[in-house]
Amino acid sequence: MENRWSDADARACVERCAALGAGEDLALRVYTSRLIGADPDLVLHGGGNTSLKSRALDLFGSEIDVLHIKGSGWDLASIDPAGLPAVALAPLCRLRDLERLDDGTMVAELRRALLDSAAPTPSVEALLHAFLPHRYIDHSHADAILALTNQADGAARVRALLGERVAWVPYVMPGLALAKRAAEIWEKNPDVEGLVLEKHGLFSFGETARESYERHIALVDVVQSHLAQAMEGRRPLDARPVVAAREPSEVAPLVRGALAEPTGNRDAPFRRFILTHRSSDEILHFAAAELGPRLALTPPITPDHVIRTKGPYLFIERPPYNDLAALGNLLRGDVERYRHAYRQYFERNAAGRAGLVMLDPTPRVVVLPGIGIFAAGETAKAAKVAADIAEHTIRTKIRAMTIGDYQGLPERDLFDMEYWSLEQAKLGKQAPAPLAGQVALVTGGAGAIGEGIARKLLAAGAHVVLVDIDAERLARVATSLKSSAVFTVEADVAHDGELEQAFTRAAGAFGGIDIAVVNAGIAQTGTLEELDSDDFDKTVDVNLRGSFLTLRQSLRSMRQQGTGGNIVLVSTKNVVAPGAGFGAYSASKAGAHQLARIAALEGAAIGVRVNMVMPDAVFGDAANPSGLWEQVGPERAAARGLDPAQLEEFYRNRNLLKARVTADHVGNAVVFFATQQTPTTGAALPVDGGLPDAFPR
Ligand SMILES: [Zn+2]
Repeated sequence: MENRWSDADARACVERCAALGAGEDLALRVYTSRLIGADPDLVLHGGGNTSLKSRALDLFGSEIDVLHIKGSGWDLASIDPAGLPAVALAPLCRLRDLERLDDGTMVAELRRALLDSAAPTPSVEALLHAFLPHRYIDHSHADAILALTNQADGAARVRALLGERVAWVPYVMPGLALAKRAAEIWEKNPDVEGLVLEKHGLFSFGETARESYERHIALVDVVQSHLAQAMEGRRPLDARPVVAAREPSEVAPLVRGALAEPTGNRDAPFRRFILTHRSSDEILHFAAAELGPRLALTPPITPDHVIRTKGPYLFIERPPYNDLAALGNLLRGDVERYRHAYRQYFERNAAGRAGLVMLDPTPRVVVLPGIGIFAAGETAKAAKVAADIAEHTIRTKIRAMTIGDYQGLPERDLFDMEYWSLEQAKLGKQAPAPLAGQVALVTGGAGAIGEGIARKLLAAGAHVVLVDIDAERLARVATSLKSSAVFTVEADVAHDGELEQAFTRAAGAFGGIDIAVVNAGIAQTGTLEELDSDDFDKTVDVNLRGSFLTLRQSLRSMRQQGTGGNIVLVSTKNVVAPGAGFGAYSASKAGAHQLARIAALEGAAIGVRVNMVMPDAVFGDAANPSGLWEQVGPERAAARGLDPAQLEEFYRNRNLLKARVTADHVGNAVVFFATQQTPTTGAALPVDGGLPDAFPR
């Protein structure tokens, strides 16, 4: 384990924090907290916490002892002084006299002791930091320490390896009881450099930030070296031969379909998840191992992982990769069995405890021999967190098996953690957005309308895959949307292979699709007498053939996933009210419109709704002007005897509402259909400010 302390970096951090009003002791606390946070072998995604005991002035100008402790919601990797709020130490220390302290009261007391009432709530491990006297305290969930402590004889192993440098704290759930226990144990062993908490992690202490950090690294390093030696040249688990004749992106939609949880509500029939795939050497080794299925059921390496990954992983044994339909059935059956077992686990442990509400029973990590793992989450971010944790968990369990026999927390302790009110609070309680967990693929995604549609889908909670032929524009739009829920694919919608590949890449990124927006289109002006046949073909290729290919692939993907879906075709008012000199566009779009109606007929049986949006004259804005209008605008203006700059005004004035139609309006119409607010398929919704000529009939 590398000691990353650097005098120059430490000084730079002191200077940076001085500008934020923080003194040197707090600045160095920030610096080494970040060092710990930056190492995923120590902590992952908001895990771990650090503290500093210092002095501050109270309201009356008297100096008091304070504890700067990590605030919840902050990640050590990116922490700032504001993420280490000060709490008055004396009132916290007095809590040690209590016999017991419930979670709600503990949080209230922590908040009451904050010097700044607007600061984030101190870590749930704040009391442990408060009851120990050391100036600097660092706490991590280091993988190496966990491989050592998560053994039946963990205490003896820690003693053998770390000797008198640390004291052992038997497992107690975080809160007052653990804080008291840790303080008592330290008092009996006042010379130790730190505490090893059984099946939980490591605390180290120091007079300076550097001392506490370096002790932490040194302790972990001893264990890491021991493990590395034990692992040398060994593939510790017995691997079975596995043939995975499938790409992960082929299997992902089947997994995603199986994980989608039926809600019983016809208008929102499934609770869906975003998937992330991983296949490191260690993961593949684990997935192929004889011991894999048993290890997948063992508890997490440290208790707070349970809220991200749940306890057991779902291990799919002997997947029939040569028969995708059979694989789909196997997956659905296995997920159902997992849910059943989860409900039993809940009932077993919740019995006699009032007020507990069961979390969703869907597995968060699915292991497939030869393919690796799929991690599931409500968002791509949550799926990534689960995948990162699973990757470290699998590595740690392999190491633990190499030196002994992995043993996690008993079920009861795990349940207490999973249903701990303070852990539940971390997950947030807002009602999910209407398209949460859904993935939308938008063709023509880099255009003005495509961007508007993407913006509205994102706001409704969907993840979005933008497909476009223009890579540069695609990159610009992705940047302007500023979201981890956006993925882009460069592809020509008129090209069979490229279009299919776009769907494959979407499945690779998020696990599959639930919404397809058929939006790519080009225009070519000219009267029929003038129109060049190649130009006509080009327009038909994108507008009609591209729509056909997208509809076809959407229906195939949605059928395979087995959870229905929505397709929205961006049609045009020209379908019912064509314009002279606009034949190629109007005819090809009319063909696409007709195909969408056919898709509505064919998709209903598999729960796929297909609807059309018919906009008129969407010009885009300065940042993303409509490519279509840039191309046809000058000619259309000339045909009407106008200056091109007057064109937008002209279109606005010709509709009943004198409305400027925007890309966001089109996006709202797409979201209306995609959220299934009415039982509608095969319908067309004008978004044109009201054009009597174009009233659908
Ligand atoms: Zn912890």
